[in-house]
Amino acid sequence: MTDTLSAVSPSAASTSRNVVTEIPGPRSQELHERRMKTVSAGVSATFPIYADHAHDATIVDVDGNHFLDLTGGIGVMTVGHTNDAVVAAVSEQVAKITHTLFAVAGYEPYIRVCELLAQHTPGDFAKKSVLVNSGAEAVENAVKIARKFTGRSEVAVLHHGYHGRTNLTSAMNYNMHPYGTGFGPLAGSVHHAANSSPFHDGLSGKEAAERTITYLEKRVGAGQIACLVVEPIQGEGGFIVPAEGYLPALVEWCHANGIVYVSDEVQSGMTRTGAYFASEHFGIIPDLVISAKGIGGGMPIAAVTGRADIMDASHPGGLGGTFGGNPVSCAAVISVFDEVEKRDLLGHARRVESTMKPALEALQAKHPALADVRGMGAMLAIEFMDPHTQKPAPEIAKAVQTHALHAGVLILTAGTFGNVLRFLPPVIITDEEILDAVSVIDDALSAL
Ligand SMILES: *Cc1c(COP(=O)(O)O)cnc(C)c1O
Repeated sequence: MTDTLSAVSPSAASTSRNVVTEIPGPRSQELHERRMKTVSAGVSATFPIYADHAHDATIVDVDGNHFLDLTGGIGVMTVGHTNDAVVAAVSEQVAKITHTLFAVAGYEPYIRVCELLAQHTPGDFAKKSVLVNSGAEAVENAVKIARKFTGRSEVAVLHHGYHGRTNLTSAMNYNMHPYGTGFGPLAGSVHHAANSSPFHDGLSGKEAAERTITYLEKRVGAGQIACLVVEPIQGEGGFIVPAEGYLPALVEWCHANGIVYVSDEVQSGMTRTGAYFASEHFGIIPDLVISAKGIGGGMPIAAVTGRADIMDASHPGGLGGTFGGNPVSCAAVISVFDEVEKRDLLGHARRVESTMKPALEALQAKHPALADVRGMGAMLAIEFMDPHTQKPAPEIAKAVQTHALHAGVLILTAGTFGNVLRFLPPVIITDEEILDAVSVIDDALSAL
């Protein structure tokens, strides 16, 4: 795989970025014209380039431009693009059995994935899982399971959260636009409470938890709530790390009130933050954990894992679907867990933080608009505020993103106000590549 990349560009060994045409190049422009005729306008296009192949942290577009990928397909490619072990596992499985539907004829890889999830999610109790196809579908299932288990209807979520694009999950998102506008009526019985966002609210974890809990008790009633669904580090919301003590206080309150605590670790889970699941950093043990993005090494699969008694609340046939826990995707998950152990990918995620965070903090000292550096492991972000008005500065995030694209670095924005740049590289990205990317951001900010 590495050879393919070197064949396209001899410079790939020394630096993974190499822009050889205008951006977008002629072949990307051609594909874009075809896309505009046949692909729904509802599907957004962050970058104007079209990918041809990729390996580790490098994406090569159809014009031969090499991009250093700090998006990781939004935190999916934790083990790196076309990871050799994942490619081998998928290739072997696809020729063996591609689909039976687990409910029709079971197969071992599904069971193995559930064993691995039981072993690696927080908590030392009997756990069970259901496998589905996407993060949003997993969130939907977690809510179904919690409702069935508790016999209650109401669902609590936090401001600045993101949970997907289905009808229920659109109702659970903080941002109405673009996820809900005109798509209603959205599912009811969803209640949004203030989160903990130390950079913006200045509250301690205890104070923020009191605010969240008081709202839910007064406005919804603790006894009516089936589940509280929380991202331990909010993803789309801008990599918001809650204040110390906030999440433990929420878990404690849930348990005192018979509410199922659901950790949406679709983005933060599976090695991304330097722990298998980010809940570990906060010392919490959720009742249910949702995983998706990083677990399949690029193959579509998601899971709800948790306390066996809760997971068993559904009657047979209440959960599942045609493609859920596809054997090829399961084979990919097994190989990802194996890679994490064999190549110490948890250590790599922590290395990304120890290299990138100080480099970003050095930029913060230099550029007054760079107001905050935060995150954990290979889930890091910078937030831009106008230094004069102290208002969010999305135009700066956008300008840096565009500058970086033309220099051969792919970076995503995030945050309710779009003023955050988030970094979700494959954790095997090299220190050299990280520092190179940070120097591109430095150049972009200096050029403003
Ligand atoms: C991406 C994401 C989802 C939705 O996952 P899909 O696979 O896109 O449906 C849900 N929750 C969080 C925290 C996410 O980041």
